[in-house]
Amino acid sequence: SRVLLTGGSGFIAAHVLDVLLDRGHSVVTTVRSNEKGQKILDNHPKVSKDKLDFVIVEDIAKRGAFDDAVQSKPPFEIIIHTASPFHFNTTDTKKELLDPAVIGTTGILESTNKHASTVKRVVITSSFASIITPSEGTRPGYTYSEKDWNPITEEEAIQNPSNGYRASKTFAEKASWEFLEKEKPNFSISTMCPPLVLGPIVHYLQSLDNLNTSNQRIAAIMTGKAKDELPPTGTFLWTDVRDLALAHVKAAELPEAANKRFFVTAGYFSNEEIADIIRDNFPALKNELPAKGTKGGGYPEDGIYQYDNSRVKEILGIEFRSLKDSIVDAVKSLQAVGA
Ligand code: NDP
Repeated sequence: SRVLLTGGSGFIAAHVLDVLLDRGHSVVTTVRSNEKGQKILDNHPKVSKDKLDFVIVEDIAKRGAFDDAVQSKPPFEIIIHTASPFHFNTTDTKKELLDPAVIGTTGILESTNKHASTVKRVVITSSFASIITPSEGTRPGYTYSEKDWNPITEEEAIQNPSNGYRASKTFAEKASWEFLEKEKPNFSISTMCPPLVLGPIVHYLQSLDNLNTSNQRIAAIMTGKAKDELPPTGTFLWTDVRDLALAHVKAAELPEAANKRFFVTAGYFSNEEIADIIRDNFPALKNELPAKGTKGGGYPEDGIYQYDNSRVKEILGIEFRSLKDSIVDAVKSLQAVGA
């Protein structure tokens, strides 16, 4: 099929793009600058322009930002919307996190509904942030699944950047389901809800200075920043970026994925386990790493919530990679950019 992929310069989108090409789709990706788009083309020298191209969408928070991008010749059948800010260095939560997430998501749905009647499926990258209730803490005995919604309010959203990010994902996903109900468009949607996403970076898009948020803890552990104490793990669930990318593409391809949420998680992890895996597999990094048993980064003593990832396995057929494979490949990819 012909696919529009938003935010092609992102950590997750770069993998989605390669899975799409591998599975024979033709892809147009949105980026914020010509330079970023050209980099993607230059690094796929064997792929022809009719199989891979880019368009510029500078700011997804602008009304109508996607009106032109959703129109193409030949027309699109699938849209995968990954672009959304994921960082915590903000001073204006509404402008920097909430607006791009919410207006970006409703905007692409509106543009598709108005200008791209051939589109059958829109896949949206949401997050475990829109599932979890953070105020419940580690919630031993409770099982999170697609039935759960983060109850965060507009007021809580602007209290701090981490609330702001979680709210941005929650409000954006809610708005997409409301759009579907209200507008009854020609297309169906699928929303992907991963927790922390780890795994190899695509080297030509990222450097240590602009490393995506979720891999920063691996870089910190590798480069000696966690030698004396491991930082708290925070969210104790993860998924590998390549498995998540395949889940996006399968959700776009499969009729039975229509109008479903997917809680895409491989299972538990802790920062302590990340450090252990790096220590066991990269002896040359020994001097940078926290010694075995260094404090911090472990699981909570009173237990932790459970998860139900059966829908992703059953409907999308995803077999999840191990934490070891993900971390080893992530470390190699970070070493290739100088870590
Ligand atoms: P990245 O920061 O690598 O990618 C974010 C992408 O969104 C980039 O392409 C970025 O463009 C684009 N973007 C952000 N703000 C704007 C804007 N205002 N206008 C246009 N483009 C914008 O992060 P990830 O790949 O990790 O995140 C991708 C998606 O996955 C996001 O929706 C995120 O919320 C979600 N997610 C990520 C998780 C993780 O652990 N990584 C976990 C759960 C969900 P540019 O490169 O030009 O800045």
